[in-house]
Amino acid sequence: MPYKAEYIWIDGTEPTAKLRSKTKILADGDEPGTWGFDGSSTNQAEGHASDRVLKPVASYPDPIRGGDHILVMCEVFNIDGTPHESNTRALLRPIAEKFAAQESLFGIEQEYTFFKGSRPLGFPEGGFPAPQGGYYCGVGADEIFGRDVVEKHLDNCLAAGIGISGINAEVMPGQWEFQVGPLSPLDVSDQLWVARWLLYRTAEDFGVSATLDAKPAKGDWNGAGAHTNFSTKSMREDYDAIIVAAESLGKGNKPLEHIKHYGTGVEDRLTGAHETAPWNEYSYGVSNRGASVRIPWQVEVEKKGYIEDRRPNANVDPYVVTRLIVDTACTDLESAGLV
Ligand code: ADP
Ligand code: MN
Ligand code: MN
Ligand code: MN
Repeated sequence: MPYKAEYIWIDGTEPTAKLRSKTKILADGDEPGTWGFDGSSTNQAEGHASDRVLKPVASYPDPIRGGDHILVMCEVFNIDGTPHESNTRALLRPIAEKFAAQESLFGIEQEYTFFKGSRPLGFPEGGFPAPQGGYYCGVGADEIFGRDVVEKHLDNCLAAGIGISGINAEVMPGQWEFQVGPLSPLDVSDQLWVARWLLYRTAEDFGVSATLDAKPAKGDWNGAGAHTNFSTKSMREDYDAIIVAAESLGKGNKPLEHIKHYGTGVEDRLTGAHETAPWNEYSYGVSNRGASVRIPWQVEVEKKGYIEDRRPNANVDPYVVTRLIVDTACTDLESAGLV
């Protein structure tokens, strides 16, 4: 029996890239190989030289189609074999390799918001729901909107073998979170992109859309982030390493260098209100949800563990945020001899 391979890739849409996918029928026993697409329709090429190349990098059982069907995460290349400029995974590969001995792990908390038409799910026509307060981790039809979609997405992620570690309802109605990890930089990023694809695809069947927009509702409503939890082997054993990592992200130009690549509209979300730190001031602290980087309280108690970079937007590219954190923190951990 032939089987279906859904090739998934990241396009060149500005300012925030989108996911694309298309189906290839493969003969029984054949592996998914290199494929092509029309880059002029995805902002990845000009019409007169439109071919771009898809190279499979990871595949997962397809929970939507079931059977032997698969999802295939791809990198995008030019026809001369060089990575396309939108291919941020190609930039992560050498950094992950360079610091592989430090055994970095990431857990990313993906917040997102469901929309029905032009309003967040749960926002009444022509008005607003009750103010924030009861929705986070809430229960009941007055507080929870879209749980059927969320449960289906969770099951789909598990069936696909995604390393999903939990879900919760968020602070604004229609806003939710799932967490992927802890996993290596490449695995967490590949799997987060596939989990995002599954989110859109699952919600599609319910007539609902999902957005990673960082500020989906203007006014006194929380934005949507992608808190990025990070550890190395030494941080999982030693508190000095935790401090070196937290300090490394605040040195010199590093805060601005990172923030620039932490997602579209990051300055609009990191206002200093709504459990955020201002985007232009770096701080870290134990248990502090108003700091740029939080050291969880149990990490302080146990004197080992991980740190949480709270700055990345929901729409951040995980290939980029993991690359920047590994590069910055692992360089300083190496200099400090904490490897
Ligand atoms: P929060 O209290 O900030 O809402 P969550 O429970 O939503 O925390 O997310 C915590 C994330 O941290 C999870 O994705 C989890 O897998 C990840 N995590 C746990 N331990 C580590 C570790 N040692 N290194 C990296 N990530 C970790
Ligand atoms: Mn969380
Ligand atoms: Mn959250
Ligand atoms: Mn968090």
